[in-house]
Amino acid sequence: MNIKINENFKNIKETYLFSDIAKRVNAYKAANPGADVIRLGIGDVTLPLAPAVVSAMTGAAAEMGSKETFRGYPPEYGHEFLREAVASHYSSMGVSVPSSSVFISDGAKSDIGNIVDILGDNEIIIPDPVYPVYVDSNLMSGHRITLVPGSSDNGFLPLPSSLKGTVSGAVIYICSPNNPTGAVYSAEGLTEWVSFALKTGSLIIFDAAYEAFITEDVPHTIYEIPGAGSCAIEVSSFSKFAGFTGTRCGWTIVPDGLEASGVKLSKLWARRQATKFNGVSYPVQRAAEAALSPEGLKQCRANIEYYRANASLIASLMRSKNIYFTGGTNSPYIWLRCPGNMSGWEFFDLLLNRYQIVGTPGEGFGESGNGYFRITSFGSREATEQACARLADL
Ligand code: PLP
Repeated sequence: MNIKINENFKNIKETYLFSDIAKRVNAYKAANPGADVIRLGIGDVTLPLAPAVVSAMTGAAAEMGSKETFRGYPPEYGHEFLREAVASHYSSMGVSVPSSSVFISDGAKSDIGNIVDILGDNEIIIPDPVYPVYVDSNLMSGHRITLVPGSSDNGFLPLPSSLKGTVSGAVIYICSPNNPTGAVYSAEGLTEWVSFALKTGSLIIFDAAYEAFITEDVPHTIYEIPGAGSCAIEVSSFSKFAGFTGTRCGWTIVPDGLEASGVKLSKLWARRQATKFNGVSYPVQRAAEAALSPEGLKQCRANIEYYRANASLIASLMRSKNIYFTGGTNSPYIWLRCPGNMSGWEFFDLLLNRYQIVGTPGEGFGESGNGYFRITSFGSREATEQACARLADL
């Protein structure tokens, strides 16, 4: 063909991480047919949807099957009942977010990828290691990316003071609690980022997908930080909080106070969504609303408690082995330094071959992930207990 393609795609590193993992696990299983392999590598939930969620979804599906209550296209920004429910959720966290700033979507990944549409060619600042979508979606648009390295020195919570050179009008991605490191910013840490953004005329894109896992006294939303309403967009999701990874629903908050080039970002995002997105299905939005109801919250939190207890088992094991790790307290992830200076892949092979346990090498999440490893708490209790028992002689 004689068309031009988006050449920026050539700059995106092919990621073979999960296919490489699958290949190694399959080869191991072929060579050891009876082996009971425990998978603690996935970032996907395993518990089923909460009963309140299922009941709301089936009720809404029944409405769609009746002439009187059938609905066609949903509103592009979400049904008012769900925008209100999300706004109330923020009130319960002590911050005021009007429902008009809430944009319902089919998940955080879409919004993180799509937000690039409304932004121009800015410097992009991304702490490393991190959820790869921030980097890849900006590479697709040919943007310049500055990575801010995380390490054991900063507890995988890099701060703006580690940036070199002058920054003006950058877009900064912050994920807290973080995937893959499980590290979570304190109010002081986030205040540094917000002050930096305000001082440099930058925009923060704050990913709160793991907010529900927070147990300690740290911010659940960037809007707990004074001034964030003038410099931050927040993206969040029902995926990890309510087990919606397969059901698909999330939201993005674009405060009215965000303005650049004399235009409100909320207006641009509304235009973008109205043009390219046709909303989330009615049954899913009713299900999401139910997840935020008092009964739904109780049930979803019980599921999170289950994963958290798994995380706590793994964290205790790491402590008993004197292995440096982050996460496990406010996050489903445990991010550990591979023992004996092994690379992530060497440790992967050791865990698979000696203990029949699968995790994820840190290399898959950015350069600063070298020599680290992610274990998740999304497995069953039995599998997690068994894995910890097997690792007793690590
Ligand atoms: N943000 C982070 C940090 C994630 O780890 C994930 C998924 O693993 C997402 C966003 C995607 O969320 P969603 O399922 O809502 O697209």
